[in-house]
Amino acid sequence: MEDPIQAWKNKKSETLHAQKKFLTNLRKNKISKNLDSEADRAHDQVFAKVDCLKCANCCTSIPPIVNKTDTRRIAKHLGMKVSEFQQEYLVQDEDGDTVMNVSPCRFLEADNTCTIYEVRPKACRAYPHTNRHEFSKNINLHIQNLNYCPAVFHIVEQLRSV
Ligand code: SF4
Ligand code: SF4
Repeated sequence: MEDPIQAWKNKKSETLHAQKKFLTNLRKNKISKNLDSEADRAHDQVFAKVDCLKCANCCTSIPPIVNKTDTRRIAKHLGMKVSEFQQEYLVQDEDGDTVMNVSPCRFLEADNTCTIYEVRPKACRAYPHTNRHEFSKNINLHIQNLNYCPAVFHIVEQLRSV
């Protein structure tokens, strides 16, 4: 069986237009009440095959939002004052969100593990926001993530075939 990350690399250019159109139509038309259940199922099936440790595109490309609770938890874990952690690791982006200030993330190791995995930001835990009955709320995000996340590519492919 073809590696799902390699399959994404091979097919993403040729399918991007059709996938974006599919997601845009979902957004424009009335969202099916089954969509989030189908997405939850597709998410579980896809993540059973995709090995994030062979990818880490999210950690190398998209600075995660770090909320106040994340900030306190991570600063405590690192033995830093909140203000020190904010100064050293965080910045405000153009949308006014507080995010990690460097990409690739400074907590990402060469083997794609995260040095603060147990206390990582909520946004990292929730990425790519395709499950927990939240797929339909994040259509615009999925359109952007088609460029970064092989799992989103496969989830959308699975939904297109339903
Ligand atoms: S981009 Fe998607 S597949 Fe890659 S590590 Fe992040 S969540 Fe996993
Ligand atoms: S905190 Fe960890 S999981 Fe989040 S982007 Fe950085 S390396 Fe990735």
